[in-house]
Amino acid sequence: MNVEIVNTGSELLLGRVLNTHQQWLCRRFSDLGHEVVRQVTVADTAGAIRQAIQEALGRADLVVTTGGLGPTSDDFTREEVAGLLGCKLVANAAIHHHIEEYFAKRKRPRPARTSVEELVPEGAQIFLNSHGTAPGLALCVNPNLFALSRKPAWLVMLPGPPRELHPMFNESVAPFLHRHFPQEAFACLTLRSAGVGESKVQERIEEPLHQLVCEGLVVGYCARPGAVDVRLVARGGQAGPLVQEAARIVQELLGPSLYGRDDDELEDIVVTQLRHRKQTLALAESCTGGLLAHRITNIPGASEVFRGCAVTYANAAKSRLLGVDDGLMVSKGAVSEETARAMATGAQALFSTNYALSITGVAGPAGGTLATPVGTVFMALASPNGVSVHHYLNAWDRQTFKAVTTFQALDLLRKALT
Ligand code: ATP
Repeated sequence: MNVEIVNTGSELLLGRVLNTHQQWLCRRFSDLGHEVVRQVTVADTAGAIRQAIQEALGRADLVVTTGGLGPTSDDFTREEVAGLLGCKLVANAAIHHHIEEYFAKRKRPRPARTSVEELVPEGAQIFLNSHGTAPGLALCVNPNLFALSRKPAWLVMLPGPPRELHPMFNESVAPFLHRHFPQEAFACLTLRSAGVGESKVQERIEEPLHQLVCEGLVVGYCARPGAVDVRLVARGGQAGPLVQEAARIVQELLGPSLYGRDDDELEDIVVTQLRHRKQTLALAESCTGGLLAHRITNIPGASEVFRGCAVTYANAAKSRLLGVDDGLMVSKGAVSEETARAMATGAQALFSTNYALSITGVAGPAGGTLATPVGTVFMALASPNGVSVHHYLNAWDRQTFKAVTTFQALDLLRKALT
């Protein structure tokens, strides 16, 4: 089945609102084994909406629109669809009842304009909105005069607000898809790697996976700063075994660089490992300004293992809080192997933990020298087995620098724990 998505909303094209439906809907469709082949965003004008829907009906088996179902003067989807398909808009009693109840429950008067939300193109299926008033609508376009083949297509219209669209998709659209588009067997697995570049990852696995690709496996790569995801997808009867065999090969070839699957995050893995081991962690951060502590504390249950973080940006803070020797910072530099080591042992002592991780570096854009260029990072991991120090060159803008550096720190910890 080919799915096309038409997002409506001038605010999306003006860059005022991030078009989160694009990612969210594609993710949900692919999780359900359906392929989104195209998505477009159009302004809130009758002509743009009508043209986009007409074009999409000419190609797709299922067209999904988002937005434009509300009661305001810039909501055109319902009327344009009725006009395009030549069907009448008729009042629907179930929607009337739903909207009346919606406002009564909230003890608010019902705005008169919401009456347009009761109108539906004749013959449409209705998805009542559990978090709002405008219902979702589904219409079978048959015959489909917009496709050369005249092949019937479905048109599903969903409300714009994400807090309405998400539950409606899960509660109503997913079962609708199940009924009308019996699913081909589908398997999808993402293996997440850290510390190896995108080209290197591909170089290592491309040839060994070649035979499985000939049998229908599709391999995709998604590079993020410091990390590469390898996506393994297959359809049809052999989908499961194909993906499993591919995963086995990738696992064998990328081994310790693989840190997780699908939506696994490094901070989650690290906190889980520490909890299993009943061990504790402290941090000493300089150039990352507490971002590592933020990532760790995003994980529920972090309090069982995370004791604290000293954000020691200035040299004076490093010496006062962590006991780093002033002379050492002068002779070796605040960004040096020696300072990183002293920060880690200082944090380990300060918080009395099993592990302590320190980060010191030059985020830039100023502050680099020939010996310590912008992007230089030293990290030290103090563990029950001693202290190891690691050197990186992360020459990125400040935000990316912080993201990559904290990612590397988490990976360092993950490798020590697993
Ligand atoms: P309403 O009843 O709120 O008018 P609607 O179905 O007419 O609902 P829109 O008016 O198009 O939907 O969008 C309502 C709000 O939902 C927008 O102001 C915007 O904040 C949000 N929204 C719409 N489309 C998207 C999108 N693609 N991604 C993220 N947010 C969106």
